[in-house]
Amino acid sequence: MIIAIEGIDGSGKTTQAFLASKDFKAIQLKFPDYRTMPQIREFLEGRIHLHPKSLFLMYLADICQGISNIDHEHNLIILDRYIYSTVAYARSLDRNVAMRIIEDIAPPVPDAVFWIDVGINNAMERKVRHKEPDRNEKDMDLLNEVRSVYEIMYSKNFYAKQWIRIDGNRNIQQVYNEMKPILESIIKGKR
Ligand code: ADP
Repeated sequence: MIIAIEGIDGSGKTTQAFLASKDFKAIQLKFPDYRTMPQIREFLEGRIHLHPKSLFLMYLADICQGISNIDHEHNLIILDRYIYSTVAYARSLDRNVAMRIIEDIAPPVPDAVFWIDVGINNAMERKVRHKEPDRNEKDMDLLNEVRSVYEIMYSKNFYAKQWIRIDGNRNIQQVYNEMKPILESIIKGKR
C-alpha cells in the first residue's frame, strides 16, 4: 500500500510522515532523494541553472528510480512527496501536460494522498526558524502557485484512489490526530 503526503514546503510533511511511519510500522521514503539526480540539490541551492523541462524530468526520474525497488504490495510505504510535487513545482510548464506525462509514464498509483494544506506565511515562518531557506522555500509567488496546483489536483482526484485534505495550520499533534484515524481506516480497507 502506498500513502503519499503532500503540501508546500513547511507544511509539515516530514513531521507527519515520521509520526505515521512509527505508529504504523511503515517504510518512509522522501523525495527528491537526490541519489539518482544530485543536480536537483545543486539547483535548489542556486549553484546551477536548469531548464524547467529538464528539472521536471529529473524530479520524475528521481522518483521512478527511488520507488522501483520498493515492495509496495507487501509493505506500507509512506511517501514524503511524490509525483504531485513534481507537477506542482513544474513552474512555467503547462501543468495539464505535466499531469498527462505522469499518467503516461505510470508510476505506482497511491491508495491515498494526504494534502496538508497550510497558509503560505505560516509555512515560511516555520522554515526560516530552522534553516536558511532554499530557492523554492523563499519564493512566495512560487508557493502560492504550487498551492493552487494542489487545489486543482485535489479537485480532480488526480492519480490516486483518494485525496484527503488536512488543515495543517494547527499544531503537530492536532494535525496528526486528524490524520491517524483516517489512515487507520484506509489500511483496514474501510475507506
Ligand atoms: P515539510 O516536510 O512539509 O517541509 P517539516 O515537517 O519539515 O515540513 O516541518 C517544517 C518545520 O515546521 C519543522 O521545523 C517542524 O518541526 C515544524 N512543524 C511541522 N509541523 C508543524 C505544525 N503543525 N506546527 C508548527 N510547526 C510545525
